[in-house]
Amino acid sequence: MSVESGFTYWVMVGALGVAGLLLAVLVLPLLLRLRRRARNAEKAIDSTNDGYWVFNADGRFIDVNPGYCRMIGYRRDEIMAMNIADFEAVAVMPQIQAQIARIIERGHERFETRHRHRDGNWIDLEITVTGVDQRYLVAFLRDISDRKAADLALRELTRSAEAANQAKSDFVANMGHELRTPMNGVIGLTDILLETPLEAEQREYLTLVKSSAESLMAILNDILDFSKMEAGRLSIESAEFSPAEMIAELVSAISARAEKKGLALVCHIDPDTPARVRGDPGRLRQILLNLCDNAIKFTSSGGVTVRARVTAVEGGAHELHLSVNDTGMGIAPDKQENIFQAFSQVDSSSTRQFGGTGLGLAICEKLVALMGGRIWVASEPGQGSTFYFTVRVKSASVAAHPGQSATAGQTE
Ligand code: ADP
Repeated sequence: MSVESGFTYWVMVGALGVAGLLLAVLVLPLLLRLRRRARNAEKAIDSTNDGYWVFNADGRFIDVNPGYCRMIGYRRDEIMAMNIADFEAVAVMPQIQAQIARIIERGHERFETRHRHRDGNWIDLEITVTGVDQRYLVAFLRDISDRKAADLALRELTRSAEAANQAKSDFVANMGHELRTPMNGVIGLTDILLETPLEAEQREYLTLVKSSAESLMAILNDILDFSKMEAGRLSIESAEFSPAEMIAELVSAISARAEKKGLALVCHIDPDTPARVRGDPGRLRQILLNLCDNAIKFTSSGGVTVRARVTAVEGGAHELHLSVNDTGMGIAPDKQENIFQAFSQVDSSSTRQFGGTGLGLAICEKLVALMGGRIWVASEPGQGSTFYFTVRVKSASVAAHPGQSATAGQTE
């Protein structure tokens, strides 16, 4: 060997040595890290209770973890000799193959199915499959039998609760009718008796009988409406009526009660209100009566004012805006939303003092919504309250004529 070739030889050996050293320093830790990761993943797959499969496009197993073996009750060697279709309880082979093809194309799919355990029972599973490439797929399988059983139990519970609720609503509706018939008899006969010659004391007692019977009837009607509302059977009728006349009649019907408490009752109807509209006058009256009754009930001095106006909306329809203002005790701001919920009263002591069921405003809110409107309150404790509501009504066949005012007690 010449001196030059000897030198070249040693340079090459040195270079190889440096390369080897670099390889050992840089690549070896990487390889070790990869090996550690693979071992950790393997450990996790072996110890988890979830199932893990690697399988090919024909549905044949390449690997299965102990978790799936425990889940399905077969040994690993038994499973490796079987096919997905041997476990699958919902889909058959052609469907499984179509699904595999779809996953390979899309890369990923999550679905629920059932597998047949060795003992013949079914297991509910949630499976997430990922297509690794054209040939291999990886699946993670989670036993969701407990969750499914709980869902089923909950559905069954809900169904029986709904059935019980329906039975209760039917019972309340039937009882309401049963109770209303004799109550109508009591009220009707009291009216007849009141028209006969009576001594002052007898008249006074009979008048009390009548007002008690009417209060009871109002409660029965509320309960009946509420049970209909819960059963989704509250209906709205459509008839032609005069809003001004309806409001005037109502205000005149409650004027005696207001007068008895020394309250001024004022009614103001906007002159532009159409003479006739199409809607449900009975239900409108019911809402207004409830608001006026409350206004009188919760006011000890001052007065109650009913206002009505109508605005036009698209399609020849109208929106009726009504409000009932009082100078009574008012409602604290944090209670103002609750009062529209069923059985809700500002404070329970008011039941003892003023009576009532706490159903009136809940029914009003539902009725107003059924008539395409809304209801709300503005109130200040100690100053009074104003309840506002709107409802949609249609134009009546009769053309509107110049407005009119309805009065009871006092006109503004
Ligand atoms: P009820 O009057 O039968 O209790 P409502 O649903 O009509 O039931 O009213 C619910 C509650 O709202 C009443 O109990 C009362 O506490 C409060 N409330 C309603 N209207 C008024 C009002 N004008 N002034 C003060 N509080 C009112």
